[in-house]
Amino acid sequence: MATFQGDLPDLTQTAAPVGENLASVYIETYGCQMNVYDSQAINGLLEGAGYNIVQHDLEADVILLNTCSIRDLAEHKVISRVGELRHRRTKTEMPQPVIGVCGCMAERMGKDLRKGKRRVDLVVGVDNYDTLPGLISKLTAKTIPQHAHERRTVTGHRSDAHYVAPPSLYPINNSHLVTIHKGCDYKCTYCIVPYTRGPQSEKSPEAIIEEISGIVAGGGREVTLLGQNVTAYNWQQNMDFAKLVEEVAEIDGLERIRFLTGHPTDMHPHLMDTIGRLEKVCPWLHVPVQSGSDRVLRRMKRLYTSGQYLEMVDYARQAIPNVTFSTDFIVGFPGETEQDFQDTLEVTRKVKYDQAFCFKYSERPGVPAAKLNDDVPDVEKKRRLAELLAVQEETWNAVADTCVGQVWPGVVEGQAKHQSKPGQDDGQKGPFWRLRTSNNRKIIVSADELKIGAELKARINGYKNTSFLGELQD
Ligand code: SF4
Repeated sequence: MATFQGDLPDLTQTAAPVGENLASVYIETYGCQMNVYDSQAINGLLEGAGYNIVQHDLEADVILLNTCSIRDLAEHKVISRVGELRHRRTKTEMPQPVIGVCGCMAERMGKDLRKGKRRVDLVVGVDNYDTLPGLISKLTAKTIPQHAHERRTVTGHRSDAHYVAPPSLYPINNSHLVTIHKGCDYKCTYCIVPYTRGPQSEKSPEAIIEEISGIVAGGGREVTLLGQNVTAYNWQQNMDFAKLVEEVAEIDGLERIRFLTGHPTDMHPHLMDTIGRLEKVCPWLHVPVQSGSDRVLRRMKRLYTSGQYLEMVDYARQAIPNVTFSTDFIVGFPGETEQDFQDTLEVTRKVKYDQAFCFKYSERPGVPAAKLNDDVPDVEKKRRLAELLAVQEETWNAVADTCVGQVWPGVVEGQAKHQSKPGQDDGQKGPFWRLRTSNNRKIIVSADELKIGAELKARINGYKNTSFLGELQD
């Protein structure tokens, strides 16, 4: 069962009695890995209160959408999903479910989600999931008392409330997610997260160690430490992320530690030295650069220049054997000129990222950048996005070419979908399995049966997009 860390006001008084005939709940997750973890925690909270978690929306009395506000498009998807879910029930002549919105959209839009044609029944923000059992109990009761309608929107930040997802929940890509802090104190001018997730607040090192020890006791061998900005972790100004990672690495039986997301400005040499020194820490850095132009970085309030970013990359390459990098880019930020954009392409060529998640700038209401003139026309944003993706692909292909013929160890994550490009037989025959190297590269191999979690070696024969095609070695 999910629990809370911290001395919290008791918000669970209305919790449903554990018992028979409680509602069945379907949870759908949007957005980042933090939301995936939160959904696991919600799952644990509801199962602990006796609710039945189901895997299909049509089986559910209650549907919870755990949402993301990072881009306009992400929010539109959820709104239209609400309409779709209602329509499916009407079409199949089934009773309408209770629909709830959780997560960042709940925090950003609050009561507004309860208005209009596509209104939802329940709105619960990121720090208030412990109220869900009680609220669902009221909303699904056969006789709904008058006061049940009073409190259907619960939002607001509680800095000492931290969820712990049940360690028994299955890992994502063979890695158990462990959120180590929430919120963010950096105020990048385009970003909604400090408003939806609130200020940074760390889970205690003791709680993190206990959670991971529970995962290892249950057979888990790999964790991904999660946070909006994990490298800013600093428990009571006394334990930074490097020290935390050292402590986690001491857990017997734990074999691999990954982490997401790092902020370039927190990638201090001593952290990179620690990552390079500890064998259990995987040599993969997801360090969003966002732009290659100092002028744009200043307007984004990213706290580094492109020169400092490239120095960090150079240092990491010295300190961390086999390190790979991935990143995020925003193109068409207000005021971005063609020269600024060319600077971004230059950084892409220099770093040679394994993966780049590239987006057009999307204005979020209420953030500082919303006051800037969104002056790059959409057609130009699209052109820059396409050019950036093309440069990334070209750069990546040159890196991937140098990998062909090498033999790499990787851990089996699960079965993989793979199809040869039309007209090109790449020699691969199914069934296919996906291995992941410690530096986060995917290798597709064919084999009848593989054991998930097994460490194997594969010879790299080629690649398709960002996945390598390999052949198992003895
Ligand atoms: S570091 Fe910046 S982009 Fe990342 S979550 Fe914090 S404010 Fe948002």
